[in-house]
Amino acid sequence: MKIFRDLWPMIIVSLGVLSVQAEVNDKPNIIIILADDLGYGDVGFLGCKDIPTPNIDRIATEGIRFTSATVTHAFCSPSRAGIMTGRYQQRYGHECNVPFSLTNPNIGLPLSETLLSECLKEKGYHTMMVGKWDLGGAEKFRPLSRGFDEMFGFLDGGHEYFPDRLTVTDPVFHKDGYRTKLLKNTERVDEKEYLTDAFTREACEFIQRNAEQPFFLYLAYNAPHVPLQAPAEYLNRFKTLTGNRRAYAAMVSTMDDGIGRVLNSLDEAGVHDSTLIFFLSDNGGHLDHGASNAPLRDGKGRVYEGGIRVPMAMCWAGKIPAGGRYDEVVSSLDIFATIADVISLECAELDLDGVSLIPYVTELRREPPHNILFWRLGGGSMSAVREGSYKSVRINGNYELYNLTTDPQEKNDLSKEQPEKLQEILKSYQQWNSQLVAPCWDNPKPNNIY
Ligand code: CA
Repeated sequence: MKIFRDLWPMIIVSLGVLSVQAEVNDKPNIIIILADDLGYGDVGFLGCKDIPTPNIDRIATEGIRFTSATVTHAFCSPSRAGIMTGRYQQRYGHECNVPFSLTNPNIGLPLSETLLSECLKEKGYHTMMVGKWDLGGAEKFRPLSRGFDEMFGFLDGGHEYFPDRLTVTDPVFHKDGYRTKLLKNTERVDEKEYLTDAFTREACEFIQRNAEQPFFLYLAYNAPHVPLQAPAEYLNRFKTLTGNRRAYAAMVSTMDDGIGRVLNSLDEAGVHDSTLIFFLSDNGGHLDHGASNAPLRDGKGRVYEGGIRVPMAMCWAGKIPAGGRYDEVVSSLDIFATIADVISLECAELDLDGVSLIPYVTELRREPPHNILFWRLGGGSMSAVREGSYKSVRINGNYELYNLTTDPQEKNDLSKEQPEKLQEILKSYQQWNSQLVAPCWDNPKPNNIY
């Protein structure tokens, strides 16, 4: 079920290659490409028909597509904290979005946590963050203070896309955040290109500059997060689409072209085969902003599958089988653990919550990677638990229970029919919940959450 059967010969060859090449190159380059609010149903490799994504699909074709990949939060900043620490962000109070501030010393990913970037820098990687940070604006929380040698992008939770709109140098108010000039390391710069293209350009240049040394590129596009602003030539690709879907599609398409340029840069630099690439979205698509999470229920900001299950693919030429499909539930927490496994990072003291995916996608291990996964939003106002086929959901003060094997669209609430199962799951949740701390700050005002 996990891997197509006709791929077995390839897998066996791949494992042979793995054992030989591990000695040759134990430091693959690492790239994490993060999309922002990209819906589960908005990539070709998961069945999207109206937005071609050939370049994102290339990552899946050259590696593994995940059909049940989850993130740890239904919106931006906490999900990113989970990815960068490999730990449930509720363990250290990063449970709400970060209100805009470039100076508040109390709001940002806590310095008590060790970031993936810090581990990779320590291991000799040259590191760069491109795009949306959203993990704290004060100096001590910024990328250059958190393990990145270089950065290009912005610190806020979103940004305008056209360069003539980026005129604010010293932002003070929230409304200024999206219009602030981009940061190139410590300097504000005047940008000339559409934002997504600018991020692609910087990512490609970074790859070209660092082909001779191990590098880590965290490429966090803010596309297709609002505001819905797309270049005319891309809008013209989607003349048959209407409403927000058209601009959304154009933004996804721009990002997809950019990812194609990034992959081509790896080819041109001769490092494609020595690069481990992850692609995923930070949360589900926003249904009011043109996204589709089909066939899943609901979207961004909620704990139904449409909010927390995302498109995800991973490739590493010759090391993991090409063209594979993995259906068991995995977590964005697994990215840190997978990288730690690949580069033999000593991380016992980090107390990671994820697991390395390598043994699972190569079928060395056949059991599901996770017996149980948890979600908690806003200190518990919303929560969910996934255990095997079952999922409990707490929303609007009520508990619901679904069997995702028989009911993947979460239509048939079983909480009344199977109260014992619900109680069993909630007992596990309470145990996990007792390990957490209260949110360190509140979400911004509701209209600024997203
Ligand atoms: Ca997001």
